[in-house]
Amino acid sequence: MKRIISAILLIIIAAAAFTGCGIFTPSAPQRFSVVWYDLFDTGISVTAYCRDQKEFSALSSEIYSELQRYHRLFDIYNEYEGMNNACTVNKRAGDRSLVETDPALVELAVLAAEMYRLTDGRVNVALGPVLSLWHEAREVSLQSPDKAYIPSAGELSAAAQHCSIEGLFIDREKNALRLEEGMSLDLGAVAKGFAVEKTAQKLEAEGRSMVLISAGGNVRAVGSKPEGEKWSVAIQNPDLTSEKNYVDVILAQDISVVTSGVYQRCFEYNGRSYHHIIDPDTLMPEDRYLSVTIAAKDSGAADALSTAVFNMDQAEGLAFIESLQDTEALWILPDGSFAESSGWEALRK
Ligand code: ADP
Ligand code: MG
Repeated sequence: MKRIISAILLIIIAAAAFTGCGIFTPSAPQRFSVVWYDLFDTGISVTAYCRDQKEFSALSSEIYSELQRYHRLFDIYNEYEGMNNACTVNKRAGDRSLVETDPALVELAVLAAEMYRLTDGRVNVALGPVLSLWHEAREVSLQSPDKAYIPSAGELSAAAQHCSIEGLFIDREKNALRLEEGMSLDLGAVAKGFAVEKTAQKLEAEGRSMVLISAGGNVRAVGSKPEGEKWSVAIQNPDLTSEKNYVDVILAQDISVVTSGVYQRCFEYNGRSYHHIIDPDTLMPEDRYLSVTIAAKDSGAADALSTAVFNMDQAEGLAFIESLQDTEALWILPDGSFAESSGWEALRK
């Protein structure tokens, strides 16, 4: 009998130690996580160290409702009650009057315009007319492979006539935007990173740490893990058939790591694969890389940069990244080889 009781006790002790919930370390934070699949058309996970489930539930609901608000605001396909969002701005393109909107959408437009200038137009949120042709081709080709097609050169260059960022008017005082006739925004290259960054900054302002948000290739660390230990962030293996699902690991604290990859959203036509990052010069997805990962403080900027650097040749992209402070990059080339900026190695330690 004694033996049975001590065996049961041992199991309870082991369980308590394993879950960390317990009797011996009441104040040690425990690790919790949650995943959502209904925002930004991707999987979003939150991992955090909290005192208990109740604290984590409150934290994760706060994060969810922030991200949901941004998701709605930056949605170009649907409008929502009580707000003028990106879809509203697109619908009213050509109107003389400004569309009053949420300050966060205006802030995103300002960031996007800055990123356009910084990258010589390699990331352009005003590329909507061209991107929607590719979007449509992808949807049709994925749904009915026998009807697969790519947009014609003629259609693409006609659409490109309406993609000048100069046609996006931003009124910061009135919190309003306006597009010229025929234009449309596509915020896909920056919206997720911006939303994650704003949410992370809100948590920081509340004194939070020990939180990691990962939104489909867009990771942001809020502080470190307990006792100052950095988060390990794995870089996805572009070869999704490989048993090894990551190719590199870096250590992160208070920074963001964002990957743009060809494996995320692509389709096949005539035996060739077409991915979702469009080179504004050729209006085509170019096969320069399998992925580009950017590590930088701000997740919104990192997201814009991951798309932009994808559209730069290797030497140009490397020189560009080296010219930016506190910004590093890892390129995976079509043959599976790697290139990295000078400060990347330091992120591994
Ligand atoms: P993901 O959204 O998969 O994380 P990216 O951040 O690279 O990847 O964004 C790709 C999305 O950005 C595309 O789906 C499209 O909506 C948009 N996009 C593609 N090419 C460009 C470009 N040159 N400039 C601006 N936006 C782009
Ligand atoms: Mg991006």
